[in-house]
Amino acid sequence: MYLRMAKRLLWETDKRLLWKLAYQAGWKGLRSVQKHRSRLKRGEFFPPFLYLSVINTCNLRCQGCWVDVAGKQTKIDVAALNRTVNEAKAVGNAFFGILGGEPFLHRELLDFLEGQPDVYFQVFTNGHFITDEVAKRLRKMGNVTPLISVEGSEIVSDERRGRAGVLSATMQGLQNCLNNKVLTGVCTSVCRTNIDDLLNSRWVDRLIEMGVMYCWFHVYRPVGPESRPELALDTDQLRRVRQFVVDTRATKPIIVIDAYHDGEGRALCPAVTGFTHHIGPGGDIEPCPIIQLAKENINDGRPLKDVFNQSEFLRDFRQLTAEHTRGCVVMERPDLLVQLAEKHQARDTTQRHTVMQELRATEPRRSQYVPGMEIRERNLLVRLAKWYAFNDFGTYTRHFKAENWTDPNSVQAETARPEPACPEPARTVLHELPVVSAPGK
Ligand code: SF4
Repeated sequence: MYLRMAKRLLWETDKRLLWKLAYQAGWKGLRSVQKHRSRLKRGEFFPPFLYLSVINTCNLRCQGCWVDVAGKQTKIDVAALNRTVNEAKAVGNAFFGILGGEPFLHRELLDFLEGQPDVYFQVFTNGHFITDEVAKRLRKMGNVTPLISVEGSEIVSDERRGRAGVLSATMQGLQNCLNNKVLTGVCTSVCRTNIDDLLNSRWVDRLIEMGVMYCWFHVYRPVGPESRPELALDTDQLRRVRQFVVDTRATKPIIVIDAYHDGEGRALCPAVTGFTHHIGPGGDIEPCPIIQLAKENINDGRPLKDVFNQSEFLRDFRQLTAEHTRGCVVMERPDLLVQLAEKHQARDTTQRHTVMQELRATEPRRSQYVPGMEIRERNLLVRLAKWYAFNDFGTYTRHFKAENWTDPNSVQAETARPEPACPEPARTVLHELPVVSAPGK
């Protein structure tokens, strides 16, 4: 497997882009984690990875989306984006996640990415605006990897994303990237209607055959104004996703991302461990993209370093959550977020202003934390990498108290809430999708 992966990297990539990935995201990314560890030892805090949602607007209307995509357009202007990235660079950060809405609807996005050649960006996108020209520009820059979301077959995609013809436009954007040898990933929010189509070897083989270098299977989180809890996975399905990720990492020549487990398979939340925090389209500094509550904003006029070091709201979020669960607080303990928001008088950062009602209405359910059922990484390199760079940095050792943890499944049982009926998944053969024309490949 290692040999096949090495062969793919050598034969299928543009070596300049590969070097940029290895140096800017790999080497500098590791150094930023090292600096983060040193800061923690000194009692300081600044997350080594920042996610920036640069715009709220999107051309799609996905089920369970938490962003006000149809609201008044709000975006972070280039000056604020550059200021934020520069301040993060000053403390050693080198890797940034760019989200939306649909980030490519931000007209100055490419200029911004181009203007920061010494850091690396991962852009979460539906791929619809990645034309051949855009892909050529991305290749020229070399410091950007698009992470394109595929949510299922033609039928499931259209249903999940609220428009017709979504999948073919996404596949065209993906192919434009691959034709131009841009290092590209595919991500999926795994839910009950796409788990059978996408969580299988045939789909991963299809991605490898197309030239996709990495994939990310994250699990559907029922949040937002129309949370669609009937799409969320049950405990067996969550374990199935984890097992699939571990097995694929050990057997297939493709990089598989997973942000919710350490090398021993112990669950963690990257916002609680302080690995990441998020900046929303209005500049609000939030624990993570789906927790739309904030006390601070990048436009407050204070250096970001001071904000992260002094934010009692963010510190309390990390500690309170870590005391109660290693899983996703939004899914397991939405009541803690309500408590936290009330204590700190945190702002609802949405345009709809219903976040507190949404949290109060959220039924606790199992997330990635399934105690006693940890699935250890089979791949030695992944175990080593996680041991060094992706673990809880002592967060749960310091704060987690097993007696505080409430099994969300028993909460559901106690309150006798029936599992909502799952919609019948539309059956497909996604791995047999025709490749869009691939000149130059
Ligand atoms: S709170 Fe949940 S969604 Fe947010 S980073 Fe943690 S695990 Fe992920």
